[in-house]
Amino acid sequence: MVDNCLFCRIVAGEIPATVVHETQNTLAFRDIAPKAPVHVLVITKDHHADVAAVAAADPALAGEVLGSAAEVARAEGLGERGYRLMFNSGPDSGQEVAHVHAHVLGGRPLGPMLC
Ligand code: C5P
Repeated sequence: MVDNCLFCRIVAGEIPATVVHETQNTLAFRDIAPKAPVHVLVITKDHHADVAAVAAADPALAGEVLGSAAEVARAEGLGERGYRLMFNSGPDSGQEVAHVHAHVLGGRPLGPMLC
């Protein structure tokens, strides 16, 4: 756990979150400010700053995040219509929380990616 990391504190139970899925090494919870009818964040329980960091440190864990995201999408009923899976990584992306998280977005047509 990293001091003052918001998502480490969610993993520790210090900050509440609406958890929708959990594996040994990942946690998925609803985004507090949803941008779509379904907006779930999938994080690693251990602290990694971003997707590049977890892919370098533990490729199997990076794969577990993807598997959890796919399972969340299925459980949220997005299997037929599809969904967007997105990682912000680093300052130019606008990443606000420096703890790797996949955004699972769906439940409406999402339109083109905005840059
Ligand atoms: O990719 P980025 O770092 O910008 O996304 C962080 C996300 O974490 C935001 O979508 C924000 O709404 C969400 N968040 C949350 N619960 C918190 C704090 C932030 O779901 N307690």
